[in-house]
Amino acid sequence: MAVCIEIIQADITTLAVDAIVNAANNTLLGGGGVDGAIHRAAGPQLVTECSALGGCATGDAKLTKGYQLPARYVIHTVGPVWHGGGQGEPQLLQRAYLRCFEVAREHGVKSIAFPAISCGVYGYPLRDAARIALTTAKQVAADDDFQRIIFVPFSEQALQIYQETARRLNL
Ligand code: ADP
Repeated sequence: MAVCIEIIQADITTLAVDAIVNAANNTLLGGGGVDGAIHRAAGPQLVTECSALGGCATGDAKLTKGYQLPARYVIHTVGPVWHGGGQGEPQLLQRAYLRCFEVAREHGVKSIAFPAISCGVYGYPLRDAARIALTTAKQVAADDDFQRIIFVPFSEQALQIYQETARRLNL
């Protein structure tokens, strides 16, 4: 079946998919931005499960249940903090996306939704991050059995950047 790569401007916590991805921090104990929103919507059981995971390295990903979210699972990943691009940020961001797909596959996830990992407090330039996100998804979509890969820009400006990037990549 052909994989569908979608771009939907939304609050990721409202999406009824197999898994939503959380742009978490190394502790996995909750934070601001999308992380805070996911924890609020999932309820307190999420932090309980997260606290047993022993944190998460930058570029890695770990899965929990979704609890009160419409999504079945949350895949927590940690993107790099932007330090100007010369400290391996692109490789780490790509690794974070790839690990999410890997963990998703291990759990039979067919539909997965990503926020703009690292593009909030971590300061990654959205245009560069969108290119990495969409290029990686295109590669994964070519030889995998995901049914839906959804990117979830939160703002109108982010939506435009994702759409423009997708056009440039012929998605
Ligand atoms: P990071 O620390 O990885 O930069 P942030 O949570 O600060 O993570 O931001 C990541 C992206 O998630 C930002 O582009 C931000 O606008 C977006 N975001 C924040 N809340 C939500 C939400 N509820 N749904 C989808 N995206 C969100």
